[in-house]
Amino acid sequence: MIAENLRKIKSKLKPEITLVAVSKTKPNEDILEAYNIGHRDFGENKIQDMTDKYEALPKDIRWHMIGHVQRNKVKYMAKYVHLIHAVDSLKLLKEINKRAKNEDRQIQCLLQLKIAEEDSKFGLDKRDLLDILKSDALKSFEHVKIVGLMGMATFTDDEQQIHREFSQLENLYFDLKDQYHFTTLSMGMSGDYELALEHRTNMVRIGSKIFGKRDYDNW
Ligand SMILES: *Cc1c(COP(=O)(O)O)cnc(C)c1O
Repeated sequence: MIAENLRKIKSKLKPEITLVAVSKTKPNEDILEAYNIGHRDFGENKIQDMTDKYEALPKDIRWHMIGHVQRNKVKYMAKYVHLIHAVDSLKLLKEINKRAKNEDRQIQCLLQLKIAEEDSKFGLDKRDLLDILKSDALKSFEHVKIVGLMGMATFTDDEQQIHREFSQLENLYFDLKDQYHFTTLSMGMSGDYELALEHRTNMVRIGSKIFGKRDYDNW
């Protein structure tokens, strides 16, 4: 079932679009089912769970941290995380830089733009995002690399609203892309990735459409 779902979604994506299979709450067997048909990009939203899975599973998996990151947990993923999607402060970048330096590597990050019109706790407004990009502090963080932007639209049936929200992120991304050498626009989930494709996303994060509904009871 998982393999079938994955193939179906991939058939709708141009080859240059990265599909991050969001495996949060799902067991290792489910991840292996996707892995065994060649899938390598997986997303988790809790550092502890991701680290347990990293340790148990093949080492050529690219692990994406898609959730809100607590600074005191960065150290657990610093040696292996492939991309951190939801960076929202210089303080966090400073910590990522420090931990990446300890591991003698550079960690790729995306800045999260707050696009949801509804109250949402996470993400930067445009001005704060630009302040981070322009800051001298960022230039001194040699072990982090901002490779693009990420955003989450409101969970709603109102497609016009989702279009508006994705447009904001699309516009900002393409305004900044050349100047900052961006490569990655992470936008679109199970319910809205087809709309995100219309807004030139090149990385979608899809969970339930691949692995089925999540059961949070024992999580
Ligand atoms: C859970 C999650 C997803 C995937 O959600 P689905 O609706 O199951 O596709 C994508 N992005 C983030 C940030 C998430 O937390």
